[in-house]
Amino acid sequence: MRRDLTVGRWAPSPTGDLHLGNLRTALLAWLFARSAGGRFLWRFEDLDGAVRPQFYDSQLRDVAALGLDWDGEPVRQSERLDLYRDAIADLRRRDLTYECFCTRREIAEAAAAPHGPSPEGAYPGTCRHLTPAEREQRRGSGRPPALRLRVGSDGPEPTEVTVVDRQLSAYTGTVDDFVIQRGDGTPAYNLAVVVDDAAQGITEIVRGDDLLPSSPRQAHLAQLLGIEPPSYAHVPLVLGPVGRRLAKRDGAVTLQDRLALGETPLDVVNLLLTSLKLDPVMSLDGLAETAQHFDPAVLPRGPWVYEPPALHA
Ligand code: GLU
Repeated sequence: MRRDLTVGRWAPSPTGDLHLGNLRTALLAWLFARSAGGRFLWRFEDLDGAVRPQFYDSQLRDVAALGLDWDGEPVRQSERLDLYRDAIADLRRRDLTYECFCTRREIAEAAAAPHGPSPEGAYPGTCRHLTPAEREQRRGSGRPPALRLRVGSDGPEPTEVTVVDRQLSAYTGTVDDFVIQRGDGTPAYNLAVVVDDAAQGITEIVRGDDLLPSSPRQAHLAQLLGIEPPSYAHVPLVLGPVGRRLAKRDGAVTLQDRLALGETPLDVVNLLLTSLKLDPVMSLDGLAETAQHFDPAVLPRGPWVYEPPALHA
């Protein structure tokens, strides 16, 4: 596949209205792609049970209202299950997976026990070491197993993977035996995202830095699947007034909330641009020029702490 054209993407989950934090990340992802003269694709990550159908359209509407555009039709992960199944079958065939019967509680308890250098929160490998008889017995218990990736050797050394991030430089994380297919048969986020980014020819991932810790897992999986990993730019999140990640509880944070307050889409775009230390635009068409002059090096490195309009009154 040609890698000389930048292909970026925006991959929201249709589980709610996008708030200023999501919209700011969308704007950034668009600016990164368009500033490079690249394509920008929309993918709905809708494998999660919390999806609510009305948000497919409302998310498209809100992002378009801000003057952002995308190429081609938005795709939905729920319509691409065959792609994920093929990748999972490939990994299974290569004996790179194993069934995991653990409950969340069992994992938390096992992870808390002293047992070597496994990092906090990492899967301790309980089911990796089951004997065939133990595995049979657990299969008989009726709990449908999740599927985990077998990462690294069986020795005590954790597998470390480093990814290069345009905004944050190198980031090294431990890759544990993470889940690639949930117990109910649904492909897990880390699997689907890697398969999709490859299938859509994505060369550059721009997303919130809450996903930075997932990137070593995804880069590792890409390598196993023979996929050239994309470049990454993780961007700081927006925090609410008390320092937690922005959420609905923080007041008028969705586009529709802002319009109801009497603001225009242009006001919202300019609020987001100013938060990024970029010049405001006179009209939404001006975003094309913002993209032309966009320089990621000057973006703020820390989170934007959003203050509700009432606090300025
Ligand atoms: N679907 C994820 C979200 O809405 C984004 C995943 C990604 O960009 O890799 O936060």
